[in-house]
Amino acid sequence: MRALDWLLDLLYPPKCVICRRLLARGEQDICPDCFESLPNFEGEKPRVGGAEGLSVTLFYEGAVRESFLRFKFSGRDFYADVYGNWMAGRIRDELGRGFDGVCWVPVSKKRRKSRGYDQSELLAKRVAKELSLPTCAALQKHAERNPQSQLKDAALRQANASGAFSVRPDADVSGKTLLLIDDIVTTGATLSECCRMLRQAGAKHIYCAAFASPRKEKER
Ligand SMILES: [Zn+2]
Repeated sequence: MRALDWLLDLLYPPKCVICRRLLARGEQDICPDCFESLPNFEGEKPRVGGAEGLSVTLFYEGAVRESFLRFKFSGRDFYADVYGNWMAGRIRDELGRGFDGVCWVPVSKKRRKSRGYDQSELLAKRVAKELSLPTCAALQKHAERNPQSQLKDAALRQANASGAFSVRPDADVSGKTLLLIDDIVTTGATLSECCRMLRQAGAKHIYCAAFASPRKEKER
């Protein structure tokens, strides 16, 4: 081990991204207990209009949800590398290969500035790196409305998402096969709206991938 790595480990010992337990030597990113009990997504997927496939890595619940909230709101931006690796594995299995580029569902400029990063952009960059694909900042989000997470009803979410995104004028998506990344997919309204805009701009095929999705009532 390099002296610097040794010192960094001493100052900032690596912890499990899920439960924050200190990791033992040789363990990486996640402790064996959390790895064993990771809630791999195996439910009914939300419907995403305009997409040819959707990959979801985990159920959004329990310790995964707590970990994700630290990632999104408490500056744990480096979790993106771990989450992104898991997502890339799942994407390979579920959606295959053959994408021209990776884009993402962005937060608004204002939100990005206050948070310091765009969590889905970080996930997309990691996924792209793992799959050896270029990233493409294809979409932009307009002024923040009601956060989707505060709306329970699918129809309300659809209306709220409508017109919230557009394709950036400098993005060339025409004829492309895109992989569109989001963090959490709930009803699929946001992803559907983004697909609609990308299709309008000429994207040929769109596949979507989310880090996690809540378990449906009947699957509990
Ligand atoms: Zn753990």
